Amino acid sequence: MKRVRVRFAPSPTGPLHIGGVRTALYNYLFAKQNGGDFILRIEDTDQTRFVPGAEEYIIEAFQWLGLQFDEGVHIGGKYGPYKQSERKPMYKQYAQQLIDNGWAYYAFDTPEALDAKRKEAEAQKKTFQYDAHTRGGLCNSLTLSKEEVDAKINSGEPYVVRFKYPADTEIHVHDLIRGEVKINSNLLDDKVLYKSDGMPTYHLANIVDDHLMEISHVIRGEEWLPSAPLHVMLYKAFGWEAPEFAHLPLLLKPDGNGKLSKRDGDRLGFPVFPLQWKDPKSGEISSGYRESGYLPEAVINMLALLGWNPGTEQEIMDLNTLVSLFSIEKISKSGAKFDLEKAKWFNHQYIQMASDEVLFGFFSQELEKHGVTAEKDYALRIMHLIKERVHFIPEFWDQCSYFFVAPTEYDPQAVKKRWKAGTELHLPKMMELIESVQPFSKQAAHDKVMDYVQSNELNMGAIMNSFRLSLVGAAKGPDLFEIIDAIGVEETAKRIRRAVETIGPRE
Ligand code: GLU
Repeated sequence: MKRVRVRFAPSPTGPLHIGGVRTALYNYLFAKQNGGDFILRIEDTDQTRFVPGAEEYIIEAFQWLGLQFDEGVHIGGKYGPYKQSERKPMYKQYAQQLIDNGWAYYAFDTPEALDAKRKEAEAQKKTFQYDAHTRGGLCNSLTLSKEEVDAKINSGEPYVVRFKYPADTEIHVHDLIRGEVKINSNLLDDKVLYKSDGMPTYHLANIVDDHLMEISHVIRGEEWLPSAPLHVMLYKAFGWEAPEFAHLPLLLKPDGNGKLSKRDGDRLGFPVFPLQWKDPKSGEISSGYRESGYLPEAVINMLALLGWNPGTEQEIMDLNTLVSLFSIEKISKSGAKFDLEKAKWFNHQYIQMASDEVLFGFFSQELEKHGVTAEKDYALRIMHLIKERVHFIPEFWDQCSYFFVAPTEYDPQAVKKRWKAGTELHLPKMMELIESVQPFSKQAAHDKVMDYVQSNELNMGAIMNSFRLSLVGAAKGPDLFEIIDAIGVEETAKRIRRAVETIGPRE
């Protein structure tokens, strides 16, 4: 078998959509499973759509995700350059080759002339197409003499080079996911391949580069399926062996109604981009998975399963496992619905599985953000106590602030519900019992407090939650005696005094 070489070929027109990340991931998994190469090529032939910062963003996103390229715009390789604008001088000869062998032609029609044709067709309720049936009546090298063509080119008249589809021919695209896809050439427009400004269009550059870079498999989004017949024909026209094609199903909105867009993310509260992105023109900020506190491993695992599964119930799979289990045959033909609850679940799982070292890296950053400095042992202990409550990294602070800073406010809902008449008298008594346990032990303190609650026939839920409220500021957190043990008896006593003073007797 030919060496497997696949490429991810984004256009730097903005931040990378997670659909694009999934495309790259499937390319990566396929390449690594087959001991092949994974290449990053930047397709920037359409200069009008170029957005500054987009290329750097793409590279940074993959670095964060941990998907490493073997060759690419940022690391080079022996098939470079890997950016189409830097390959510009190469394309002309290929356009020329197609003209010379009769698979392409020069067209000089002005935009106004084409517009008039379009309007004419519309008036007859038809759509204008530049094809085998119309090209004979248009201004191109098939209708003009060689001298006329040369004169126009020499005088600098703008032109394009169009692909010359044969009339009424069945074109077959073999797709590894969809099987055989057929289309009649009469339905296809003679696509522009090259412009007189020296720029190839996407189609020409893409095919030439895939050929020169010896790409064996083109794995890309379904939106490129309509271009595939042209690509197949271009390989034929050049006399090159075509790569295998696999067009991936779309990523759909959570309700399955259409393609997942940035607006859905904004509306439903999840990012559609791997990293936060600031639009250089409008300054608008779009959220990213990284900044929202997702772990890259969780994003990878979640994305892998949007459109593919290993055929078993297994859901948690790290990158190596995905590499070994992946198969193009098991990619679904229909679109995959984005599922926010599932994304959350994956992240929660990966937070639980993360090594102390990795998690502590995030945890200590959160503490730092909130101006807290703590002994490493203490911080680690707190991290262990609360991590099971955390779905996203920024939630760490919410879940643990009271271990570092005493509360100054008490959740009014919880006060209303839990703080009963007499609570202000019982809490200091319970505190005294805790202080009497020397040296402190969670179990002994617990037993004494329970005895007190029972012998005074107190409402267990209410009094214990009032105690908790005094230490935490809200009705949340791990086991109360764990909290006391962590913050210390002295600090606990201080907090009880302050809560009693602040909340006071219930009217
Ligand atoms: N430049 C195209 C894109 O932006 C690449 C399509 C392909 O993979 O052929 O998605």
